Formats: sequence, C-alpha cells, structure tokens
Amino acid sequence: MSDAREPGLLVDDLSVGYGPVRALRGVTLEVPSGSVVAVLGGNGAGKTTLLRAVSRTLGFHGGAVTSGTVDFGGRRVGGMSADRVVAAGVCQVPEGRRVFARMTVADNLRAGALGSHGSRAAKAAALRRVHELFPVLADRAQQRAGLLSGGEQQMLAVGRALMAAPKLLLLDEPSLGLAPLMATRIADTIREINAQGVSVLLVEQNAALALRLASHAYVLEVGEITLHGRADELAGSDEVRRRYLGVVDETAASDAAAATGGSAHTPTLSRWGGAR
Ligand code: ATP
Repeated sequence: MSDAREPGLLVDDLSVGYGPVRALRGVTLEVPSGSVVAVLGGNGAGKTTLLRAVSRTLGFHGGAVTSGTVDFGGRRVGGMSADRVVAAGVCQVPEGRRVFARMTVADNLRAGALGSHGSRAAKAAALRRVHELFPVLADRAQQRAGLLSGGEQQMLAVGRALMAAPKLLLLDEPSLGLAPLMATRIADTIREINAQGVSVLLVEQNAALALRLASHAYVLEVGEITLHGRADELAGSDEVRRRYLGVVDETAASDAAAATGGSAHTPTLSRWGGAR
C-alpha cells in the first residue's frame, strides 16, 4: 500500500477552455493517496477534459488551462510535458480504449512501458503483474489487439497503463459499451489494482458502478462541480438517485422519506456550485 501521508492529486480552482469553449470552471477536487475517487457527469460535462488537464494532454486537443493549478505528489503538474507526468506516476486510460489495433497484445503492453524510466527487471515485474490481473492478455499475447472483444480491449488499455507502474491511474469511462458482466469484471480489477496501492481517479457515466468503487465522488455538470461527498452518501441522495442512478420510483422514495420522518436520512452534501 502507498503511504497515506504522501500527498495525492490536488486540483484547485481549475478552469479550462478549448478556444472560446469554456469546458471547466473553477473545479476543485482531491484524490488522496491510495484512494478511489469518482467524477460523475453526463455527456459533455467536462469529465474527459478534467483528465486531460491532469495528464497534460489538453494541448493535443486544442485545449488549455486558463486558471487554477494541478499538483501531484506535492509537485506542480502545470508546465510539465505529458511524458513527464507519466514519469511522475500518472497514467491515463483514454475513453474508448484506443489500443493499437494492428499491433499484437504484447507490443501494446511494451508500448505502455516506454514512458516509464523503470529498469528491465521493473518492466518484467510490471508485465507479470498485468498478466496476473488479466490472464487473457498472456493467452493472447501474439494476437492483434484489434481482434480482442471490447472488454478484453479495455483490459489491454488498463494493462498498458499499468506497464508504466503508475501511482495514480486516470480512468475515462472504463465501463462504456461493455456488457454488465464485463463491466463488473473491470470494476473488480480496478478494486484489486487499488488494493495493490494505486490511487484511482475514475470518471464515469455509470454512476452505480462508480459509487460502488469509490470512497468519495464529485458530480460535474456543465464544467462545474455541483455536489461532492462520500460515495455512500451520494448514492443515497435523492438528486443523485434520480439523475444518475435512474431511480424513477418517486412514490417509494417519498414513502421511505415519510417513514423516516421526512428527511432524517437524507445526507447533507456540500454544494459548491457558485459558492467559490
Ligand atoms: P463525454 O462523456 O460525452 O465524453 P465529457 O464529460 O467527457 O463528455 P468533455 O469531452 O470533457 O466532456 O467535453 C466538455 C466540453 O468541452 C463539451 O462542451 C465539449 O463539446 C467540449 N470539448 C471537448 N473536447 C473538445 C475539443 N477538442 N475542442 C473543442 N471543444 C471540446
């Protein structure tokens, strides 16, 4: 496990734009070392943009940080190149997998180790660990990545990021497009990776899955954090249940509220929107 006193990821009052498009406004969040933190939000909320700002890949997409700071492990990430961020221990798994379809599974994994400054022995150990987590990647090592199923490609994308031995994994909608069983398997693996000491910042539209995995979560709406709190509290909040967990049984919800004397069990969540 990583040292709990080690500083994790700190995003402070971050604003990002793509030319005239303001994608993030005053976003503040924290991923303490060793934790799993989720960011929930619908299409276009700014989830991918947040990860790009942390991994310093915004410039590849025509975006830029306009104000605010990102720190990881006590070091300012702003000003670092994307490969320096990887060397500092932060790896992003992009939305939609983006494996190198024509390359073999083994070469995809080798490519993941290119950004790390680890020794050959460290890289071999990372590969063993990836194969333990995802035995299918060992079985299919010589197969072209494009022939894997969607779930297996997601495993490869996560495995590729793990080859750089990250301290913090940035996961962009790992469950997107996967059948429920495969999404559950990916979730189990994320839990295992975290148990081995890797912190995780997970952005997801699948709020149910994200809230099961995370200790804390943030809700991002149109570029701003509107709610944050402990994942179990958010999972119990009416607003999150209605908007992100698809709970439509309002009668049952109000019955439950009446049974507890109205609002006794409704957690109070910090609301940041407009407060900063
Ligand atoms: P999704 O779940 O649909 O991927 P998201 O929450 O990840 O959404 P972002 O992709 O971060 O959201 O987009 C946030 C905003 O920034 C949106 O208004 C989007 O149109 C805009 N945006 C994203 N990428 C670019 C880009 N390369 N150029 C211009 N605008 C962009």
